[in-house]
Amino acid sequence: MSALAATAFAQSAEETSWYDRPMRWAQLAFVEDDPGHYDPGFWLDYFRRIHADAVCLSAGGCVAFYPTKIPLHYRSKFLGSGDPFGEMLAGCRKLGMNAIARIDPHAAHQDLYDAHPDWIAVEANGKPRRHWAMPELWVTCALGPYNFEFMTSVVREIVSAYKIDGIFANRWSGSGMCYCQHCRQNFKAFCGMELPSSTGASPEATNRFAAWHKQRLFELYSLWNGEIRKLNPNAAFFPNGFDPIRDRASVPIYFADRQARSGTTPIWQNGKFAKDARSTCGSKPAVGLFSVGLEAPYRWKDSVQNPAEIRSWAVDGIAQGFRPWVIKFNAKPLDRRWFKPVEDLFVWHWKNEKYLRNVLPLAKVALVYGSRETQDHSSGFYQALLEARIPFETIVDARFDADRLQQFQVLALANVVSLSDAQCAQLQAFVERGGGIVATHETSLRDEHGASRRDFGLARLFGASWKGKTIERQQNAYLAIEDHKHPLLAGLEDAGRIIHGAKRVEIAASPSLRAPLMTVPTYPDLPMEEVYVRDAASNIPGVVARALGRGRVVYFPWDIDRTFWEVLNQDHGILLANAVRWAANEEQPLSVTGPGMIDVALWKQESSITAHLVNVSNPMSMRGSFREILPVGQQKVRIKILEGKKVRSVRFLVSGATPKWRQIGDWLETTTPPIDLHEVVAIDI
Ligand SMILES: [Zn+2]
Repeated sequence: MSALAATAFAQSAEETSWYDRPMRWAQLAFVEDDPGHYDPGFWLDYFRRIHADAVCLSAGGCVAFYPTKIPLHYRSKFLGSGDPFGEMLAGCRKLGMNAIARIDPHAAHQDLYDAHPDWIAVEANGKPRRHWAMPELWVTCALGPYNFEFMTSVVREIVSAYKIDGIFANRWSGSGMCYCQHCRQNFKAFCGMELPSSTGASPEATNRFAAWHKQRLFELYSLWNGEIRKLNPNAAFFPNGFDPIRDRASVPIYFADRQARSGTTPIWQNGKFAKDARSTCGSKPAVGLFSVGLEAPYRWKDSVQNPAEIRSWAVDGIAQGFRPWVIKFNAKPLDRRWFKPVEDLFVWHWKNEKYLRNVLPLAKVALVYGSRETQDHSSGFYQALLEARIPFETIVDARFDADRLQQFQVLALANVVSLSDAQCAQLQAFVERGGGIVATHETSLRDEHGASRRDFGLARLFGASWKGKTIERQQNAYLAIEDHKHPLLAGLEDAGRIIHGAKRVEIAASPSLRAPLMTVPTYPDLPMEEVYVRDAASNIPGVVARALGRGRVVYFPWDIDRTFWEVLNQDHGILLANAVRWAANEEQPLSVTGPGMIDVALWKQESSITAHLVNVSNPMSMRGSFREILPVGQQKVRIKILEGKKVRSVRFLVSGATPKWRQIGDWLETTTPPIDLHEVVAIDI
């Protein structure tokens, strides 16, 4: 490099940080016996083949994988004179990768316990805490000198010796309550109280503890981040978990650690994680960590899943905006079934990178939900929108800001019980500007502190008021269809009636309201001779659907989204999707017509638009794992092009087939070939 080029390089490195550059991450998490027993050349070759452009390598904490000079920093007993961390790092640097070092401070060995028993976490009964999974180890205290002093020196040593791009800390924020002398003293100094016990703590002590715990973790975050940046201004501390810190603007990349699904997690959940991550992290890169192994309470951390499952989980995350990060624990490949599928996916991702560097989601619908409320409402609404192939974003915890709201035409409030007066006013203004709202059940019945209101905070929008009671369980109740031609009933024209939900808020609506659905209240469901309608013509609206100026509001006083999630009756899904379409009062920017269950997304890049179609049609969609990918047939696609833009070319990024397409005004129409797992319609404009 010439002197001039070197100067230019140094300047550009100062001006631009690296954080937005990597598109594909790889993590090799060493286990203690890896040094001397694994093949670094194999991994470096794999990283090269998959075009990973950033890596996370295990450095220290519980076990050091480099020749640390810090007393009591436990070295792998297989380390000898080696430096596997440094060796892998040098190889990755040669490949042009960014590299961050992983530390895990949550467990410590006997010699550290012997030298500093006060660095170990203490149980409520005063006993030092042995590690739950490996009793010869000790659980460390996250909020005392072990992290604040000892681990700070470890962090400093790694950054100064290796000029790393950042430190990624796993399990750094503690492993539950700690009653060590430092925690007791520090908490007392904070508020004059004793640490709350696990049983019978006062609400005040619990609240004070939460505040202190958060403050302490912020101090630790600031300390480590500051020390790292002193040594390398272009590096940062990346805390895993603990959202209040991870969400901060000063954490330059959002890493979402959602490695795989288990139990009854639907396959689309990784896409939801991606939307939720982006909802909180704003414009910073959102990276989705996925494992090649199973996630289950039995923790088969060294396992490999069926490739169809690994691919589907990762691809759904990518479609919804994650940059992929593949994790493997243990550098000695015991089961090689994952290498090829991950390689194929990453190579595809690399080849099509310019269409995956998203600038903005183009969805006009946002699903809003609060973390106080049961997830079943948001899951049900999510499932309904997904089945309807409506592109949508999520807004977690109803964090509205005016800028963000502007991009949406409809806000779907999935039983958002707690809303502040200010948030209610924002929603009112949103409708006045011509926006649409669909709300369910107890939305706005409480304020932001969870205190009951006398009426809905959104009573003016709903055109209904609360009668003071929620029916917590109704058996055998229905909805009579009053207006078969109403847009809410599209696709249900031949239905005689629709089942009601399980819970219902009692409301008083204006007598002039003509609701397309009226409640048929509960009647006996046994003996069978008694199962007949007693009160066919109730005056209880089953839904409120009204236009307010240019805006539109739909309110379901019952738990339609939650019941949909529990029962999965298709009528409820259709009603929810119709409500969103009607409230939008304009065509959705993407429509996909064809067989199967397809998760869709629509994105803008620098000079293109992409539509993702992920085929999640599978008997293992809602509980898994996938055994095989089952292709679906052709899909007709209609996409809104940005106003006045002319389409230059259209490509199918997965099948590689040449599309027949036409542009009609601001709309592009095409038909995809049958879809295996994934297709991307890429439109150059
Ligand atoms: Zn402690």
